[in-house]
Amino acid sequence: MHGNNDESVVRVMNLILLGAPGSGKGTHAEFISESLGIPQISTGNILREAVKNGTESGLKAKSIMEAGGLVPDEIVIGVLKDRIAGADCKDGYILDGFPRNVAQAKALEEMGITIDRVINIEVPDEKIRQRLSGRRVCEGCGASYHVEYKPTKKDGVCDKCGGAAVLRKDDAPETVIERLKTYHELTSPLIEFYENKGKLHKVTGQEDVGDTKKLVLDAINA
Ligand code: ADP
Ligand code: ZN
Repeated sequence: MHGNNDESVVRVMNLILLGAPGSGKGTHAEFISESLGIPQISTGNILREAVKNGTESGLKAKSIMEAGGLVPDEIVIGVLKDRIAGADCKDGYILDGFPRNVAQAKALEEMGITIDRVINIEVPDEKIRQRLSGRRVCEGCGASYHVEYKPTKKDGVCDKCGGAAVLRKDDAPETVIERLKTYHELTSPLIEFYENKGKLHKVTGQEDVGDTKKLVLDAINA
């Protein structure tokens, strides 16, 4: 975290973290959030929370999420609009998992939102399959861990809130295949979409999460 005495330098920064499921976009969104002091907005976490609470959107989203598909745009866009209206979003935010198709990217434009940078984390599918089987997510606060790369201090217990860190239902291998299919069909066209706007910064996911973290921070500061 950098101290900043000159308030005039502080500016709003809206970022998008793009990448396949299991690319580490959530982990890096969390890092950036901590280092820049702007909130991480994960539509996946918000939707999982809605499912847990049995809200109307949650009920509609549940089976789609479990099958590895995309929740309908009108639901997700509504969820996002509500979230970015929050007071903590006034100095910017990191979108993690939104947009996930071109229609959602256009919806952001229609809302008049300026995106400063889009960081795309590239990881081969094979690697993704390995990573997701070891992923654990906190049922309480949504923090993400990995049994090998980012273990919880105590087995199955979230470091942050003490909640249960468990394997997500949609991280089951059959569902991962569906999610990757969804990603390649619907989400990956966003790479070209943002490349054409001159906003895309590519980062190759490294073996070591700390190395990727540096590359992501470089991409933000470039
Ligand atoms: P991951 O990127 O690891 O697949 P997320 O937590 O970002 O996981 O999303 C989990 C699920 O939530 C997705 O598979 C999808 O069903 C749903 N979801 C999240 N964000 C969106 C979105 N922007 N549009 C549609 N569905 C979404
Ligand atoms: Zn937690």
